[in-house]
Amino acid sequence: MTIVDDTTTPPCAYEPEIYLDELLHSPPARTDITAAEWDALTVKRATAHRQCAGCPLMVECLYRAVVEMDVSGYVACTTEWERQTIRRRLGIQVNQPTTAAYGAARVGGGPVSHEAVMTARQAYPKDTCHQLADRLGCSTSTIKRHLRRAREQKRDAALSPTLTPNLPTIDAVLDVFDELETSKVA
Ligand code: SF4
Repeated sequence: MTIVDDTTTPPCAYEPEIYLDELLHSPPARTDITAAEWDALTVKRATAHRQCAGCPLMVECLYRAVVEMDVSGYVACTTEWERQTIRRRLGIQVNQPTTAAYGAARVGGGPVSHEAVMTARQAYPKDTCHQLADRLGCSTSTIKRHLRRAREQKRDAALSPTLTPNLPTIDAVLDVFDELETSKVA
């Protein structure tokens, strides 16, 4: 992989709260939010998507978020689920914690991290989703999304007992990305 030496500041650096918006990087089902919230989310996603698509770091950003580190946030035109889809199709996994970048630590009204939810789940295994949400100060749907993600990761690990030893090329990642709906949005 070639890392571009580019001093241009990416758009996400100016508006990190958009890229860390949990509704954006881990979208709810249409029925989980109101029509007004859905419309606002659509506009926000279109804005972030447009900025990522025009970002000079887009290719490197996508590659690293897919292959090198399982970061939180809306990154390089992809949600967490879309990046997981790319990894599944490539037959790879990344084991780094999601708190390592893109500010997954919860600060003020920021997003609760996947790691925080799983830690709470482990500490309070008999808690309902509602009780866990109260403990972490987030919504019940947030807890459900993270628990669903953990189940999906566990399932993927079971389906892929032998991991690909070599890292995929940038072209391989881009080929799978091109198959996703998000790559076709202008
Ligand atoms: S492509 Fe990556 S670096 Fe560029 S704006 Fe999007 S998230 Fe930021």
